[in-house]
Amino acid sequence: MTNNTKSLEIYIHIPFCKSKCKYCDFLSVPTDDETKHEYVNALIAQIKSKSKELHSYNVDTLFIGGGTPSILKADYIEEIMTTVRQHYNIFDNAEITIECNPGTVTKEKLSAYRRCGINRISFGLQSTDNKELKFLGRIHTYEEFLQSYNMARECGFDNINIDLMSALPFQTVESYKESVLKVVKLDPEHISAYSLIIEESTPISEWIENETREGHEVLPNEDDERTMYYLTKEILEQNGYHQYEISNFAKEGMECKHNIGYWKRKDYIGFGIGAASLVDNNRFGVVSEMDKYIDILKRYKDEELEEIYENRETLTGEEQMEEFMFLGLRMIEGVSRNSFKKIFNRDLDKVYGEIINKLVLGNLMESGGDTLRLTPRGIDISNRVLSEFLL
Ligand code: SF4
Repeated sequence: MTNNTKSLEIYIHIPFCKSKCKYCDFLSVPTDDETKHEYVNALIAQIKSKSKELHSYNVDTLFIGGGTPSILKADYIEEIMTTVRQHYNIFDNAEITIECNPGTVTKEKLSAYRRCGINRISFGLQSTDNKELKFLGRIHTYEEFLQSYNMARECGFDNINIDLMSALPFQTVESYKESVLKVVKLDPEHISAYSLIIEESTPISEWIENETREGHEVLPNEDDERTMYYLTKEILEQNGYHQYEISNFAKEGMECKHNIGYWKRKDYIGFGIGAASLVDNNRFGVVSEMDKYIDILKRYKDEELEEIYENRETLTGEEQMEEFMFLGLRMIEGVSRNSFKKIFNRDLDKVYGEIINKLVLGNLMESGGDTLRLTPRGIDISNRVLSEFLL
């Protein structure tokens, strides 16, 4: 390990799933073994090629997300991890997460993850109610999730996240409460609790439109949605979890470092189709087309590799300040005036004073000394409040 000072997060995208969930608009598809093989080879080529320009960074978090990374053979994940370790300075105590879907993990895969240094698992459970899971098009039952979760514990994973979703079609406050209580009983270190976002052109959105046209209310109303949010907070806090971001809760010291880095605008590099990067305030993405990605990396030569990157932009000072505010304020601890000054050489109140006063008067934000953060009421309507910081 060298004495480098700049730190970097790595994200690796695995865009494959067993089948498509009805609400999903992520970049992920069911595919054949041949494509998986070619994709992993392309990923490895991209990881190697980018290392030349990033050799002076230390990597303190790595996240293998998707899609369903656990759908890949264990050998592929080991090969990817070996390549990353050979070409980047990975901190000894780096947080290394893999997203797993219940029903796609085996003891063999979990042991391989441990062997290659993966120390955190994020399970997409969403609900403990099998009817709700089926309705969402999830591939697993609650019982299958339990098997995967217990297997992960047996294989030695002591840092596990469980994803939960509220505001699902036909979900009631009672059924949601039961999901939260069952999850808490399992004692995971981290829980992410999001509301279902209905994305256009997904099967679920079309179905909801039809039902609404016929006068059927299928989604929980706003009051119930709000009750679910407060229930999450209440139950989790009673059970030793603290909320550290609008939708994220953790046991003390078990917050997700990778996501915190993102909210605090640390540099990150994304590998795989559609993956985004932010390095020295330069933002860029990787092409989203699988064929194009594989093809370019197959005939990889230094000069041609740039073809896989698109949407390049260098953020202006204003854009950086906006991001500092609307990402940083997602954290419950809020943002620091001193950090703002250090990064931008400007007083936060000189840039945002008027907006801050308005939000403080409306009891949507609290301001004290170095810190500025959202109040519970501000968190309630966070999208609206955060958009105020666009300059
Ligand atoms: S498992 Fe996740 S990425 Fe895959 S289809 Fe379902 S929601 Fe989308």
